Amino acid sequence: MKLRCWLLFCFALLPQLAAAEQVLTLGIFAYRPKPVMESLYRMLGIYLSGALPGQRVEIEYLTITEMEAALAAGRLDFVFTNPSQYIILRHKNDLTGAIATLESKEGDKHTANLGGVILSRADRDDINKFADLPGKRIAIPGFEFLGAYQAQAYELLRAGIRLPVDAQLVVVGTQDQVIDVLLAGGADVGFVRTGVVEKMMLEGKLRPGLVKHINSQIFPNFPFVVSTRLYPEWPFVALPHVPEDTVKRIARALLFITPDMPVAQAAGIAGFTVPADYEPVKHLARVLRLPPYETAEFEAGDVWQRYRWPIIAAFAAGVLIIFLSAGLFVGNRRLRQTEAALRELATTDGLTGAANRRQFVARADEELARVQRFDQPAALLMLDLDHFKRINDTYGHAAGDAVLVAFATTVRDALRKVDCFGRMGGEEFAVLLTGCAVKDARMFAERLRQLVADLRVSFDQQSIGVTVSIGIAGLQPGDANSEQALARADAALYRAKSAGRNRVEI
Ligand code: GH3
Ligand code: MG
Ligand code: MG
Repeated sequence: MKLRCWLLFCFALLPQLAAAEQVLTLGIFAYRPKPVMESLYRMLGIYLSGALPGQRVEIEYLTITEMEAALAAGRLDFVFTNPSQYIILRHKNDLTGAIATLESKEGDKHTANLGGVILSRADRDDINKFADLPGKRIAIPGFEFLGAYQAQAYELLRAGIRLPVDAQLVVVGTQDQVIDVLLAGGADVGFVRTGVVEKMMLEGKLRPGLVKHINSQIFPNFPFVVSTRLYPEWPFVALPHVPEDTVKRIARALLFITPDMPVAQAAGIAGFTVPADYEPVKHLARVLRLPPYETAEFEAGDVWQRYRWPIIAAFAAGVLIIFLSAGLFVGNRRLRQTEAALRELATTDGLTGAANRRQFVARADEELARVQRFDQPAALLMLDLDHFKRINDTYGHAAGDAVLVAFATTVRDALRKVDCFGRMGGEEFAVLLTGCAVKDARMFAERLRQLVADLRVSFDQQSIGVTVSIGIAGLQPGDANSEQALARADAALYRAKSAGRNRVEI
């Protein structure tokens, strides 16, 4: 009976006991060695437990992989980690937004931001700026650190230096080791997050004057030396399964922390503030193709960011090619125009537009070849203006020119396209009638003689008349060249002159 009473008592008490021992687990990313992390944040566990009646907050200090495993196993209720880790975890797990953002402290100053620090040993005279970094050995704690790799990589990328390609990265595990390796000469350059150098100096682990900062930036109200732009500090995150009341109590407790409270002093922090915007961290991860965006699809902005110079170069080359082709095209067209003008100049007479003697003889030779091959007839006419000297003498040389032009126009208008009209010199012209027998040529010549005789040339209010004498000869298969036929036409012309001019002779 006594035993039963005891048992009943125990069973009745059990739920209360269990409730009293309900444990909430806070996973904190161990960015420094775990014993160091524990000395910093043990007080936070005690403080948060005090804010939750009947509950206890236990802290696990976890590496990145341990954090992921713990989340996957559902072991965690709260997560306190760096921003880029938060972006990755939120991408893979069902996490809520941050409920608070860390405020760190240096002296009496607070900040909810962090940045990257680029260090070299103070005695390295050859390392002073970004341009000195390519090819150097750079110690980093790991690729996943926002303040100790990603912020620096982003800044260097904007300066045209691409990590990890352009330098030799030495992955050492923790930020303290970055400093150790740097001082021991195992690397030329070290990346740590803001505040680490100051903290190590406070703890006596780094003597002042041993390291120097590359690309030091100054931001108002930011108390640490920094080499990059700033990002929000660590987020404190609640997992979705945690009851809303518990989340509120934790958030209230975090925001309530002031720098003078033991919990803040132990952790070396100023406290917590309202949750910050973590989009800049996401943007950086996208640009650097960091997890969780290492396999993300390309966006137009990314392509531009990455391939800006090749794109600009290709565009410039395209524009250059278009301009060169246009120039070439215009130049080529001008050349062809000039060539045509020169050919015209070389083959025609400037005053009358008739073929010159050389061109006419060439055409007549071609026609002779046709006559010889196909037994087709063709006729040559020699034309000479009658008493032309008199026209010049009476009306002047310019009037003579006008008569020559009017005469040439009359002849050309009477010809077919296939015929050829040439100026053989002075007021002597010739006509080639293709496919035309001598008797047909005679009829044509007679008509032409009449047309010229009827022609009145107006010049200087005077009307000038002119006549022409014409000699005809057929192109014959036995001719050695067209000059022989021309000579016969000339002889006929001479006879026309002798017979009184304004006549046609064969
Ligand atoms: P015909 O032929 O009837 O015997 O007498 P003609 O007066 O025409 O005699 P000729 O052939 O000897 O004279 C030709 C003249 O034509 C000589 C020259 O001054 C003139 N002449 C030659 N070329 C030109 C020219 O381009 N313009 C002008 N206005 N006169 C020219
Ligand atoms: Mg004459
Ligand atoms: Mg003459």
